[in-house]
Formats: sequence, structure tokens, C-alpha cells
Amino acid sequence: MNKFLISTMAIAIAMSSCDGGKGQETEAPFDYSVDKFADIEVLRYRVPGFEELPLQQKELIYYLSEAALVGRDILWDQNGKYNLAIRKTLEGIYTNYSGDTTTADYKGFVDYLKQVWFSNGIYHHYSMDKFSPKFSKEFFVEQVKAVPAEQLPLAAGQTVEALIEELSPVIFDPTVLAKRVNQAAGVDLIQTSANNYYDGVTQKEVEQFYAKMKVPGDTTPISYGLNSKLVKRNGKIYEDVYKVGGLYSPAIEKIVYWLEKAQSVAETEGMKAYIGKLIEYYKTGDLKLFDEYSIMWVEETGSSVDFVNGFIESYGDPLGLKASWESIVNFRNAEASHRTSVISENAQWFEDNSPVDAKYKKPEVKGVSAKVITAAILAGDCYPSTPIGINLPNANWIRAAHGSKSVTLENITDAYNKAAAGNGFNEEFAYSQEEIDLMNNYLELADNLHTDLHECLGHASGQLMPGVHDDALKEHGSTLEEARADLFALYYLADPKLIELGIVTSPDTYKAEYYKYVMNGLMTQLTRIEPGKDIEEAHMRNRHLICQWAYEQGKADNVIEYVTRDGKTYLRINDYEKLRALFGKLLGEIQRIKSEGDYAAGSEMVEKYAVKFDPKLHNEVLERYAKLNIAPYKGFVNPVYTAVTDESGKITDVTIDYTENYIDQMLRYSSEYATLMK
Ligand code: ZN
Repeated sequence: MNKFLISTMAIAIAMSSCDGGKGQETEAPFDYSVDKFADIEVLRYRVPGFEELPLQQKELIYYLSEAALVGRDILWDQNGKYNLAIRKTLEGIYTNYSGDTTTADYKGFVDYLKQVWFSNGIYHHYSMDKFSPKFSKEFFVEQVKAVPAEQLPLAAGQTVEALIEELSPVIFDPTVLAKRVNQAAGVDLIQTSANNYYDGVTQKEVEQFYAKMKVPGDTTPISYGLNSKLVKRNGKIYEDVYKVGGLYSPAIEKIVYWLEKAQSVAETEGMKAYIGKLIEYYKTGDLKLFDEYSIMWVEETGSSVDFVNGFIESYGDPLGLKASWESIVNFRNAEASHRTSVISENAQWFEDNSPVDAKYKKPEVKGVSAKVITAAILAGDCYPSTPIGINLPNANWIRAAHGSKSVTLENITDAYNKAAAGNGFNEEFAYSQEEIDLMNNYLELADNLHTDLHECLGHASGQLMPGVHDDALKEHGSTLEEARADLFALYYLADPKLIELGIVTSPDTYKAEYYKYVMNGLMTQLTRIEPGKDIEEAHMRNRHLICQWAYEQGKADNVIEYVTRDGKTYLRINDYEKLRALFGKLLGEIQRIKSEGDYAAGSEMVEKYAVKFDPKLHNEVLERYAKLNIAPYKGFVNPVYTAVTDESGKITDVTIDYTENYIDQMLRYSSEYATLMK
């Protein structure tokens, strides 16, 4: 299941540069942009309030951030079998290179290395396609030979030539291990996906293996397969479990080491207890313990510092079973959390009034806690590309019985906005000044609210009919789940209830989000797709599905209209209220599909509305976008935390520094946090 909302703002909507009173005028200007290459811009984010935290919380954040960074190699290996070896080889070339730095080969090589770092492997973090290197194989071969052998990832007895032989096709041959996650219909999704969650098994074998484990009538099922690799050896299928003493043990031992330190300075008894449970789970790999930990974690809402550290999201597995490793450490933004508190306190009202059939609604919404947080460190699958909202845990029965925690990462959103201000995007793509003004005036609040509603209420809403499993919608589960959460948010953004609750003042606020959403879903998100390709990523499919469906259903009333002016295509929303009604109608249907586990209807919905688009419009959008010179994807470097100690080794302070650049951070992480590839 997918509870992340990847930023739609990364698509670079020019935002109001208004600071919302958060910045101080006396501060030196903060440079948000760190690096730019390929289709990526790397930013830095601030951690406002960190310096003012009490020492205990600083120390806690420090230990948790070490526990986060030390898991890095796990994700690299999960993302592809050769990633760690390739990383080490490329870094060996980079740090030993003494040749001409102005050649096309060298420049292409550096770009490639930066892309690989950014994606934690050789596949684009969003499209899942393998990168095509812009340097020659000859250059690669020559440079690998120039690296001292002890700096290369040579297996026992392996020669440098054999290493080159092994890695070259993986890097250079576009047909070898071409895609990390394949979602294309009609083929074996496991065999055609290059992720490292499976070895030697077919999709059918995987499905049978896990179907057999399921206990009929089990109302509290564990997340089968979540923390393991499924491998066939000598004709038999085994689960290699991620745990101390199992797969990824060297990394997990270090995570445990830092978690134990964190436990010693935990903020509350509840936190101390759930960290203990998490450690137990890491030591045993027992998914029952993971569920127990998740329940303890979701019920602990008293601490200011909070974190996620584990195998959480399953975007990387076409079947949605295996979870990638990730970590985020954060602390509460008390001021901004008022907004989300009001929303979560009224969760039952929103559930009761949603345009969904009564039997699919939760009779009692349990413990939806929502807060605005300040991210302090990003790691694993949350780094460098970062979500702006998170809602966990993922297990539906835990959410139903114990609730969920929902967070909005406002310092990350803020950095996106600041970096995008004034980039000319809206001026190019918005229909008229009216829409530009709407977005300038209301989009910052509307976007944050959309995230709050999506995470806190959207993902938490609705219920499954008895006997329907979490994974009933298979490869379309992520897309439909994101659509459900987005529709919930879109529908309620326009509800007068938000004005009544004092969260929104202008009745036009929602229009800013509607316009951006439709413009993005039907046009501007296509900037992320290469010519000739389909839409594949779950969030992008979800947005296209919603907008394309609304466009077609509203055609008779001309609700959404394509307008051509001076040879350029624009979108116009002629009737915002009717559009809201359409969003409500679609929410009802998608909730039905989810609640009933109606795979056939879900599949038809996705294939019909989410995947295909007009190639002519695509070309036009790409051309217009190219002229703006904006990177379609963004991500972040982390600040650097340093523990200050006295003579006895006791931590007396933790300092924060924002000056590390992208390359230095990547190289430092590869040396300081190498666990699986030394
Ligand atoms: Zn989501």
C-alpha cells in the first residue's frame, strides 16, 4: 500500500514568495538550490526550531538520524542486484580520475553518477527505467582499469576484467534488466522487473507462495512477505528474511545499535517501549512484532520527536508485497499543527458526510492523529526524493482498529515553494491571469490542506468488506489507493465545513488547487514522461485517471475545456462546482472498488483513464517546458548534525550545518555509512 504523497509541487508551480511570517527578515538569504543535472534539481531544506530544542531531544534526533543514515545500503541493494557494486565502481572512477574534465565522456559520466546517487541505483526513481549512460563503454573500461584494485568491488577471486564483463551489460545494454518495476499488463511482472526482491521465481509462484500462507478468516493478518527476499534454490522457494543474522544483517545490526542509544534518551515511556519493540523485530524479523510495534507507535502521540525506520512502502514491488527500507526523523511543528488537529478532531464528520455508499464507510473512525512536522533527516527511500506527507501504518486492520498517524512535512514543502518561486511556470501554462492570481493567492494553503486531507482523512477513510484482502487490487492497488485519497481531499477542499472550522477564509481557496490539479493531471505532469512512453508511476496514474475521467464525464456540460490560443493549448475550468460533484462521484466508485476488492473494475478504470494520453499534446508540453529550463524532479541533501561532547564523551550539544554539497554528501555517506559494500 502506498501512503505517500509525492510532491506535485516538484512539478514546479511558481508559488507566492510570501513567507507566511515564518522567516525572519534579519536572516541571511538561504540558498535552496544545491545542484542541477539531467532532469533533477537538488535542494536543501531548513530545520527551523532545531537549535531551540532541549538537549535530550537534540540527542535523540542525533541517534535516530544515525540509525537512519546507516540503513542506506539496504535500499541500494533492494533496488537492484548490481547497484552497490556499480556505485563503488563509479565512485572509484570519480575519486581517482585525473584526466581531462572537459570531455563529453567525463561530463556524461559525472551526470550518470549523480543520477545513480539520486535514484539509489541505476533506475530512474520515478519512471523506473534504467538510465542510458551518456559516456562510452570504452571510457568506462579504461577508467575502471585505472582504479586501484582494492577500491573496486571485486568478489573473491574476481579479476578486474571479469568485473568489467559483469557490470558492462548492466550499465550499457538497454535490454538487460531494463526496468526496476514493470506494471505493464499481460506479462510476468516479477520476471520483467529488475528489483532485487525476488530471484528465480515467477509471478505465479510468488502469488501461490503467499496465497498458501494466508489463513482464511484471519482478521489481523501480518503483512506477508514484507521484509524478505523470495528466492528459488535447488527448485525450492525460500524467504530470506531481513533481520539480524539474516539478509542485510550488517546494516540492521548498526540500525539496532543506534536505536538502542535512542531508546536510552526516549522522550516518553511509550516511545521507549515502541523503540524496544522495533529492535526486537529487527532482531527476529518476526512480522507479528512489526504489527505490535506499529500499534504502539500509532498510539504514542505525546512525544515531540517521532520517526519511521523500517521496511515500509511497497512501490518497488509490482505486486505490492515487499517493502523498501526508509527512515524519516522529525519533530512536531506545534504552531502549524493546529490546522491538522482541527481536521483530525472532525474526522468522523468528514467520514459520515463523504459521497460514498454507507456500507463502505467506517462507522467509527479510530484515532486519526495528524500533525505538521519538521523533517530533521531523510534516508533510504525518502532520500533524496522526499514525500511531503506520510500516513502510516499501512496494514488496513491496524488502521481500522487503532488508527493512523498522518504528517505533513511543512519544511520540505516550504523549500519546494521557495525554490520554485518566479520560475515562469504558471505564466506559461495557466489559461489566464485569473488562474495565476488564484494560485498566487491561495495555492500554498490549498496545497498544504490537500496534503493534510489526503493523508489524515483520505487514506484513513472507508472500510473493506469482510473477506477482502489488502492486496486484492494487485498491480492497480497503489494507483487506486492514491486516487481515493486525492479525491477525498479534492472533494472536501471545496466544502464550506473548512470555512466553518476556521481553517480556510476565502471560498476561492479550493479553486486554486482544482486548477493546478487539472492542469497538472492532464498536461504539465506529462513533462515527466519521455516521448513514446505511457504513464506508469502510481501517483501520476492516479492524477491522470481523476482528471481524464472528470474531463470525459463533464464533457456534456463543458466542465473542463481545452482552449487553443496562439498555437498553445490551455485548460479552462468552466464550472468548479460541477467539477467538485464529479470528484465526489468518482470517489464513491473508487471506494466501492476498493471496499469490494473489485479487481476487474479497477483494472478497467486504470487502463482506460490513467495510462494513455495524446502524444501531440505531450510534444507541445515538452517543448514549452524545455524553454523554461526547470528540472521536473527535485530532491534534497540533508543537513549535517554533529555531536559536541565533553571530556567524558557525554553529548553536551548537537549542532546543525547546512553547507554540505551534493557530491560531498554522497561520497561521505558511501564511506561513513557503508555496511553492505565496504
Ligand atoms: Zn497517498
